[in-house]
Amino acid sequence: MGEVIYPRLAVIGCGLIGSSLIRAARAAGVVGEIAVADASEAVRKRASELGLGDRVTADAAEAARDADLVVLAVPVLAMAETAQAIAKALKAGATVTDVGSVKGSVAEAMAKALPATVHAVPGHPIAGTEQSGPDAGFAELFRGRWTILTPQRREDEPYLEAVQRLADFWTALGAHVERMDETHHDLVLAVTSHLPHLIAYNIVGTAADLEEVTQAEVMKYSAGGFRDFTRIAASDPTMWRDIFIANREAVLEILGRFTEDLQALSRAIRWGEADKLFELFTRTREIRRGVIAAGQESPAPNFGRDLVTQGSPESPRSPPRG
Ligand code: NAP
Repeated sequence: MGEVIYPRLAVIGCGLIGSSLIRAARAAGVVGEIAVADASEAVRKRASELGLGDRVTADAAEAARDADLVVLAVPVLAMAETAQAIAKALKAGATVTDVGSVKGSVAEAMAKALPATVHAVPGHPIAGTEQSGPDAGFAELFRGRWTILTPQRREDEPYLEAVQRLADFWTALGAHVERMDETHHDLVLAVTSHLPHLIAYNIVGTAADLEEVTQAEVMKYSAGGFRDFTRIAASDPTMWRDIFIANREAVLEILGRFTEDLQALSRAIRWGEADKLFELFTRTREIRRGVIAAGQESPAPNFGRDLVTQGSPESPRSPPRG
């Protein structure tokens, strides 16, 4: 058990990420009283039943009042209105952060809505699953994963201390912490997370629309790669709608590059340029090895699923998301 870093924590939005953060913070012993706010009555009921908050309310401002750390864990397009809703209730010196998957728009919304008396430090844990809601959360979610903080360009000592304290908090939850410029964050995540989700949504949609192949066949023969896309394409529609709208510019830039590369691949297939295909597939295999070496994925073949079907207790979690 660590030392208490924030005597009072408020989490606004008690879904997969908010509830995981609460569980992890409690397990690490780094918070005191926890207040939870959520817009959904069903989520508030579950949060109470699961004992996630000492106080559970529909009113974000009420939860945020007197908190030392306020974490906004709502969908990205709800961040601005949530920041506005809590602004007047915040005590001076409080830290406000978020877990949104896009940082530029959230950083701007927080800077606009929050008073100068609080420390706004946007953040993003690169961890998650394709599930949502308070029941889907678990305390180990952030362990060994990266959390990116995108602090404001301020050099005053109280702010720098607030950023360091938040970094210490994430470290206590088991995360590795990196600081980054928010625009760069959005470009990096457009490549590593947003574009892969767009491709998954698109390919699953294309397969579902194919008239020559029945839906039953798509599901029956899905093992050959398609199944992995269906997992990604099962991600929360609200969350991903918001991400693409909020990170439009970076996603479109990366999508442009991707489309050019896809055209080149298409040409290589059409003209039988076997060497070109082989060279690319060799390079991409190296990248997969790099991801495993960085500890971001299991080296077990087929994501370790075969171990699960053979009844191994080692049930692997989904690869990191976010
Ligand atoms: P989630 O499980 O759907 O939880 C979000 C919760 O926030 C829901 O209970 C939702 O209620 C509530 N909510 C929505 N608008 C609200 C508002 N204005 N005030 C109060 N509560 C509100 O979503 P999540 O996966 O935890 O995602 C939360 C944030 O984490 C998002 O910004 C996402 O980009 C980020 N993130 C997600 C992942 C991931 O893999 N899931 C990873 C990293 C970061 P309703 O159900 O009624 O809408």
